[in-house]
Amino acid sequence: MSKPVVAIVGRPNVGKSTLFNYITGRRISITEDTPGITRDRIYAEAEWRGRKFTLIDTGGIEPDTDDYIKKMMLRQAELAMETADVIIFLLDMKTGLTAADNDVAAMLRKSKKPVIVAVNKVDNIGELPPDAYEFYNLGMGDFYPISSVHGLGIGELLDAVFEYFPEEAAEEQDDDIINVAVIGRPNVGKSSLINCILGEERVIVSDVPGTTRDAIDTLVIRNGKRYNFIDTAGIRRKSRIEENIERYSVIRSFMAVDRSDVCLIVIDANDGVTEQDTKIAGYAHEQGKASVIAVNKWDMIEKETGTLEKMQKEILQKLDFMSYAPVVFISAKTGQRVEKLFELVDYVFEQASLRIQTGMLNDVLNEAMAMVQPPSDKGKRLKIYYMTQTGIRPPKFVLFINDKELMHFSYERYIINTLRSNFGFAGTPIQLIMKEKQ
Ligand code: GDP
Ligand code: GDP
Repeated sequence: MSKPVVAIVGRPNVGKSTLFNYITGRRISITEDTPGITRDRIYAEAEWRGRKFTLIDTGGIEPDTDDYIKKMMLRQAELAMETADVIIFLLDMKTGLTAADNDVAAMLRKSKKPVIVAVNKVDNIGELPPDAYEFYNLGMGDFYPISSVHGLGIGELLDAVFEYFPEEAAEEQDDDIINVAVIGRPNVGKSSLINCILGEERVIVSDVPGTTRDAIDTLVIRNGKRYNFIDTAGIRRKSRIEENIERYSVIRSFMAVDRSDVCLIVIDANDGVTEQDTKIAGYAHEQGKASVIAVNKWDMIEKETGTLEKMQKEILQKLDFMSYAPVVFISAKTGQRVEKLFELVDYVFEQASLRIQTGMLNDVLNEAMAMVQPPSDKGKRLKIYYMTQTGIRPPKFVLFINDKELMHFSYERYIINTLRSNFGFAGTPIQLIMKEKQ
C-alpha cells in the first residue's frame, strides 16, 4: 500500500503525544463509536497537502530510571527504523540535550531512513533562544523549532517530512489474493496457528519476497486459492531487544490490519476478550475490514453442554460493535477446526465484496421505512430519498436525505440491520454516508 508511515521518536515528556494529537486531530467515527481505541492514541491517519499518511507515537512508556528510559528509547528508535518511511526525532528546548538524546541520535544516524529533527517547546519560534544552538551538537544538521501546544512551526515540519514521502504507487490490487492479517495479543497462539496452517497437507507455501517491514508475509495456496498471511508475531521473535510491551504489538497489529482484506482476530479461550483484544478488534472495525474471530486453545477448555454457546455469546457481547463477525473455536495445537477457518475467511471476503443493485436496495429501503418510520424532530421528519452502493470491502452506501440533523444513530443501525437481514454482509462492517439533497 502506498500510505507512508511517519514515526515520532523522543524522550518521555518532550511532547510527542501533544504533537501527535495536533497533527492527527480528533477523528470521530462515522458509523459506530468503538470503545478502547480512542483512549490511547498512538497510531492514526493524518493528511498533509492532500496526502494521507500514518502517524505513530512510539513513546508512551512511563519514565522510571535513566537506564530504563535509555533502553526504551533505543527500542522506540528501532521500531521507528523498522516501520517508518520518515522519522521525526523530537527534542525539548526546555530541558536541552541529554545523554539519552545523544544515544538515540547515534542510532538514528546509522539508519537509512530520513530523520527530521524537531525541537519542541519553542514557544516563540520567531526568535530562537541562544541555547538552541546546542542542538547542532547532535550532528544531525538543521532542526525545526516548533511548539506543539501552540501549533507553531508544524507546517514547516510537515513540509520537510512530506519531501521524503515515497512516490505514490499506482493502486495495485491483486484481486486473486486474500490478504489475511493474523492479529491478537502476545501469546494467544498466532504463530502456532500460522505453523499449523503451514503444516496442513493441502497447503502449498511460498515466501513472498521483499514485502515486509512490519510483519512476515507467507503466501499459501489452498484449493487453487491464494492467501497472503500477514504474521505479526514472527517479527517479534526476531527482535533483538526483549519485547513484552503490548503497545508495540498493538502498533504491529494495526499495521497488519491496514494491509489486510480479512482480519483473523485470535483470542485466548482461557482469558476471553480482554481490553487489548477490544482495541485491536475495534481498529479492524473502524478501518472497515472483514473479520473472523478465532477463539484459540479450545483444547484447554473443560466443556459441558452449552459451554461453546455461552462463550460465543460472551465474546460477542464484549465485542458488540462487531456482532457481525463469525466466531470459531479452534486449537492451533490439535488443528481442530483450522480447516473451517479457511471457509470463513473465504466467506467473509465474499460477503464484504457483495454489490447490490440500486433498484433492489431501494425496494428494501422503502419497505424498511414503511415498517419503522424515520425519526422526526420538532415536527420535521427525516426523509430518505434513495440510497446507492458506492463501494465494497467494506460495503459503502450513500443515503440522500433531507436533513442530516434528523438522522439518528438508532435509525442508522436499523438500516444496517435491514441490509444485513436482506443481503447478508456477514463478517463485514457496513458504512453509511449521509448526503443532503433538497
Ligand atoms: P510525551 O511524553 O513525549 O508524549 O510528552 P507530552 O505530549 O505528554 O508532553 C509533556 C508535557 O510537555 C506536557 O505537560 C505538555 O503540555 C508539555 N508540552 C508539550 N508541547 C509543548 C510546547 O510546545 N510548549 C510547552 N511549553 N509545553 C509543551
Ligand atoms: P503468539 O505470541 O500469539 O504467536 O503465541 P504462540 O503461538 O507463541 O503461543 C503461545 C503459547 O501458547 C505457546 O506456548 C503455544 O504452545 C501455546 N498454544 C498456542 N496455541 C495453542 C492451542 O491451541 N492449545 C494449547 N494448549 N496451547 C496453545
